[in-house]
Amino acid sequence: MLRTHTCGELKLADQGKEVILCGWVQRSRDLGGMTFIDLRDRYGITQLVFNADSDPSLREDARKLGREFVIQITGKVAERSSKNLKIPTGEIEIIVSKIKLLNAAVTPPFTIEEQTDGGDDLRMKYRYLDLRRSSVRNNIELRHRIAIETRNYLDKLNFLDVETPVLIKSTPEGARDFVVPSRMNQHQFYALPQSPQTFKQLLMVAGIDRYYQIVKCFRDEDLRADRQPEFTQIDCEMSFIEQEDILKTFEGLIRHLFNVVKGFDPGEMPRMSYADAMKYYGSDKPDIRFGMKFTELDDIVKNKGFKVFDDAGIVIGICAEGCAEYTRKQLDELTEFVKRPQIGANGLVYVKYNSDGTLKSSVDKFYDAAELKKWADATGAKEGDLILVLAGEKNKTRKAMNELRLEMGTRCGLRDKSVYKCLWVLDFPLLEYSEEAKRWFAMHHPFTSPLPEDFELIDKDPGAVRANAYDMVINGVEVGGGSIRIHDKGMQQKMFSVLGFSNEEANSQFGFLLNAFEYGAPPHGGIAFGFDRLCSLFGGSESIRDFIAFPKNNSGRDVMIDAPSEIHDEQLKELGIGLK
Ligand code: ASP
Repeated sequence: MLRTHTCGELKLADQGKEVILCGWVQRSRDLGGMTFIDLRDRYGITQLVFNADSDPSLREDARKLGREFVIQITGKVAERSSKNLKIPTGEIEIIVSKIKLLNAAVTPPFTIEEQTDGGDDLRMKYRYLDLRRSSVRNNIELRHRIAIETRNYLDKLNFLDVETPVLIKSTPEGARDFVVPSRMNQHQFYALPQSPQTFKQLLMVAGIDRYYQIVKCFRDEDLRADRQPEFTQIDCEMSFIEQEDILKTFEGLIRHLFNVVKGFDPGEMPRMSYADAMKYYGSDKPDIRFGMKFTELDDIVKNKGFKVFDDAGIVIGICAEGCAEYTRKQLDELTEFVKRPQIGANGLVYVKYNSDGTLKSSVDKFYDAAELKKWADATGAKEGDLILVLAGEKNKTRKAMNELRLEMGTRCGLRDKSVYKCLWVLDFPLLEYSEEAKRWFAMHHPFTSPLPEDFELIDKDPGAVRANAYDMVINGVEVGGGSIRIHDKGMQQKMFSVLGFSNEEANSQFGFLLNAFEYGAPPHGGIAFGFDRLCSLFGGSESIRDFIAFPKNNSGRDVMIDAPSEIHDEQLKELGIGLK
């Protein structure tokens, strides 16, 4: 080894020791006859001292070391006179007796320190330098810890880590596939898996019984901050189980991760039906760190001469505690907020329940104080609170109110990043109708089983059939989802036909699965967690990119290696592909 210690471990107790350290020159400063260098490695920073009085030529050598030079030093651990108690090595420094330059470095394009001056693009282009920063490295370490602890937990429960192929045939999970041309089978393509869904089900048919994999998945979708074209799932499947077993097992996983990685228990993990999630939060992933539940006000507010409410499919109110003092300007901001095209409300009605007991609304013309008091009673508003009301088409209004609720939650400081609230959302609809495609789509994926008691509705009222599907939501983020699967060939065929596949299509795309179901498929079900998302949530960040060593940007580019890129004509020819 080129070193005796790392840059993060020497303490006062090591005083007097002769040590050898290796690392990068983070910073160098001259002070009188002394030069100080912060030497950095993965483990921390150790201060080096060079004294012109005791060794002038060594000090001169030290002054020539530039930022990010890689050096090896030999020296003695000494107590520091001005201590830095913010870092673990802050009480000592190394009085250097020898420097060896291991490699010089050109000036980095941004400063490699906690607070960098590098913009996003620059840092991504030089991600290997960005990763030297402790804040970024900490995220990668957190990711590692979560992965290890996931494996520990699942291994103890007899789950087998089985790898599934990456070059496969398209799996319909609702997104676009990435495809890879096959040279050996000209004009044929592999698809990259959107998830190992069908493989893990085949593993159940194979009797593997409990499977997991921390696995790359690929979806060719338009990107947002929390999406990457390639992302990682903790993918799991179990046989001979019911929904309750899955919920218990994976509640256990999340609880374990919180306990060992974050050092606290996340507490109760309540369950909510999809229908209630939509009714009370307007979202299938409610943030339950705070209340502000929806109240449907239709019965109270309709038929009082206010046409907007009378014509509305639904009128929803929320109570923002302690916000009665909101100024005109603040209320205008909220109105602007809900009217933004992404949110799409036509306007916002408010009622201030003033601390003197009076009620003041934006619709005083139609509702007197006694009427407004009914609104307050229904929404649970007290003196000092603000009631916000939206009205319109049911689904649109619920969605808009969800946005407003989250905005108010943020404004009121109710979405504390250090507080974690987990929730299961259950009983999703099996199918959703696409007006555009004029057909039904599987809300989760086509292998999800319906709730047995709803199955009879499949032809009469497909939209009313609930799925045996579940999502885990933490702080309003969907971190995982899964379902109990169909394991019967006839029912799977029925599902494909409801989804508009002809028998031939179903057989050509999924014949392998339908066949497998004829050879003794056990009842099974599973779940997959978005691993990157889980990491970002644990790390208290909005973006999953911070937790991926080499992420892609918003246009799906890796700006460091410059991919995607064109390929040689020769390669295209081999593949039998011509570009226009
Ligand atoms: N394959 C599903 C997904 O990626 C998860 C599951 O049903 O287990 O969403």
